[in-house]
Amino acid sequence: MDQGNRWIGLGVAAALLGASLGAQAKGDPGEARTAAYFDRIAGSPPQLRMFLQAMPKGGDLHNHATGSVYAEDFLRWAADQDYCVATDSHRIVRPPCEAPAAVPVRDLASRDYAAYSRAIDALSMRNASLPDADRFFASFDGFRALSSGDAGRVTAAARELAADDRVLYLELMTMPRAAQALLDAAKASGLDGSDPDALMAALAPLLPAAVAQARAELDRDEAAYAAANACGGAQARPACAVEVRYQIPVPRHRPPAQAFAAMAYGYALAEADPRWVGVNIVGPEHHPSALRDYATHMRMFAYFKQRHPRVSSSLHAGELTLGLVPPRELRHHVRDAVAVAGARRIGHGVDIAYETDARELLQRMARERVAVEINLSSNAAILGVQGAQHPLRTYLAYGVPVVLSTDDQGVLRSDLSHEYLRAAQEQGLGYAQLKQLARDSLEYAFLPGASLWQGRAGAARVSACARDAGDADCARYLQGSAKARLQWRLEQEFAQFERGYR
Ligand SMILES: [Zn+2]
Repeated sequence: MDQGNRWIGLGVAAALLGASLGAQAKGDPGEARTAAYFDRIAGSPPQLRMFLQAMPKGGDLHNHATGSVYAEDFLRWAADQDYCVATDSHRIVRPPCEAPAAVPVRDLASRDYAAYSRAIDALSMRNASLPDADRFFASFDGFRALSSGDAGRVTAAARELAADDRVLYLELMTMPRAAQALLDAAKASGLDGSDPDALMAALAPLLPAAVAQARAELDRDEAAYAAANACGGAQARPACAVEVRYQIPVPRHRPPAQAFAAMAYGYALAEADPRWVGVNIVGPEHHPSALRDYATHMRMFAYFKQRHPRVSSSLHAGELTLGLVPPRELRHHVRDAVAVAGARRIGHGVDIAYETDARELLQRMARERVAVEINLSSNAAILGVQGAQHPLRTYLAYGVPVVLSTDDQGVLRSDLSHEYLRAAQEQGLGYAQLKQLARDSLEYAFLPGASLWQGRAGAARVSACARDAGDADCARYLQGSAKARLQWRLEQEFAQFERGYR
């Protein structure tokens, strides 16, 4: 069952209303005192970390599920399954572990700590001294043998990290195993991606079974998770309360017909089951195939958007910088994702300043409320873009909605608290701005339902929920909106958090 369903029902919605939210208006004294405390500790990274670790953060909207797992966890799971580490590449490989090419993972740390440590480096960006896009993407090959068949364990790990980081909501990019049949059929069709109707005709007969298989797998994984973590009972682990939804990732460096197949699957899943809320496009944007096929991909998204207007897309676009690719590749990716593909959110958007007529594009994103998902550690490690070079403040200056996200916190050795720390330290954001970003991480989530807010998140609540203590009108409103329910929870968390700074 949908984990979110636990919150549905008037009784539960009413229970959410139990605590007063405190004053809502601007000039809220709790918020002002908390901001004053933040300003006093802003020069101290350890004190900022303590503050930000405890701060409620809403959602993490840009999270590649397998990339969120730390290498130590992959190595532990590999040991449980008697997998091996290849002695040359340090990647996890399937048994048998035949020396000298591969050694068992089990007890590797005690037998050969240097080999264990090298494996962690190979499965992540740990100890990377320079930004390295190709090393980053290659690290996924290090744990693919393990991660590709274990969505349940990967999602559970992501939820644990989220709960620990005070995150209420995750939008995870993960591909169900059943996608392989569609990718194979796309390849076998011999089609090149130029005729979407022909591709759709080849794939349509396979979609119902692939959708049913993914739903059955997710049912099984969610039931196993709930049982293992006592979700719904008095002893439930905190991670049970993290709401999870899924996006289908489209591999941009595969042949166009296969990218199309992944899109077809994503749109079909989102139509069939509310746990899938969107479609994305992922992989190295600087890869020659991804650059060559960029316009084709955007046209494909436009094709699906016309057929499935209710399904949202968040597209990685502009995860590029001068030097990584020729300047001509920096001119149009964000614009095409917005104007051609109709993306509701942009992932990264780092190259915005290089786009043709960037000012008009920024104004358009602000006007159309197209949010940008900013991943500061990722951009530093992959592109070498950080500090004043990073466009986060430019997006804010133009009024574009911004959210902070982790991208691949395991591979990047980060967490969402650290992304907030970077936003404070490197981008100079204050408490009120960080709180706005946290609120926007739910406002721009692909959760169904109307917002708790009229207009801008944090400005004024809808009239049904205008009173601070909440009432039956508000309970009914929250019952009808998964998004507003989470937004209400976040406001309760903020009220409680800010009471600590009286
Ligand atoms: Zn990403």
